Amino acid sequence: MEAKVNGCILRLVKGDITKRKVDVIVNAANRQLLPGGGVCGAIHRAAGPELAKECAEIGFCDTGEAVITKGYSLPAKFVIHTVGPVYSGSEEDPKLLSSCYGNSLKLAVKNRLDSIAFPSISTGIFGYPIEKASKVALSTIIDFLEKSGKPSLVEMVLFSKTDFDVYKNTLEDLLKD
Ligand code: ADP
Repeated sequence: MEAKVNGCILRLVKGDITKRKVDVIVNAANRQLLPGGGVCGAIHRAAGPELAKECAEIGFCDTGEAVITKGYSLPAKFVIHTVGPVYSGSEEDPKLLSSCYGNSLKLAVKNRLDSIAFPSISTGIFGYPIEKASKVALSTIIDFLEKSGKPSLVEMVLFSKTDFDVYKNTLEDLLKD
């Protein structure tokens, strides 16, 4: 599914983010920037050991912030590592999750990267309910595109059909307003 926002494409894809041939993919990282499990483990496996080396040199990234590295053996040229909140039910959760998407998009534009793919940040091991997370993710991306008119392609890459359907319903709702 695809939508046009201020001349840019916002696309929902069901698949594996490590296979996306875009300028930059986003990693749902941890604050220590260690390989770990989930999508983070998959990205590190596909990129090769040099990615963990560069992450170790950076050393730390706070929740809601983002840092950039090269993509090494990935089809994507770069990786933006952002740390989502561990879901707690507090009002900080959506603010921090929104910062992850906003700061990643800012960093991509700053580095003149014109296509970016996101996973569903925080909705795996970090426990963020996916319906709530999908609203934060998509509304933050849409706001950013409306304000800046770039990057020209933003993908949300959903690993399962169920996750894809949740994002699809949320996007359809947001486009109605
Ligand atoms: P977090 O710790 O931020 O919750 P996870 O990696 O546990 O991160 O999960 C984030 C989302 O990424 C989950 O919905 C999970 O199903 C999904 N995911 C796992 N592997 C991949 C992959 N290779 N490509 C895209 N999404 C993935």
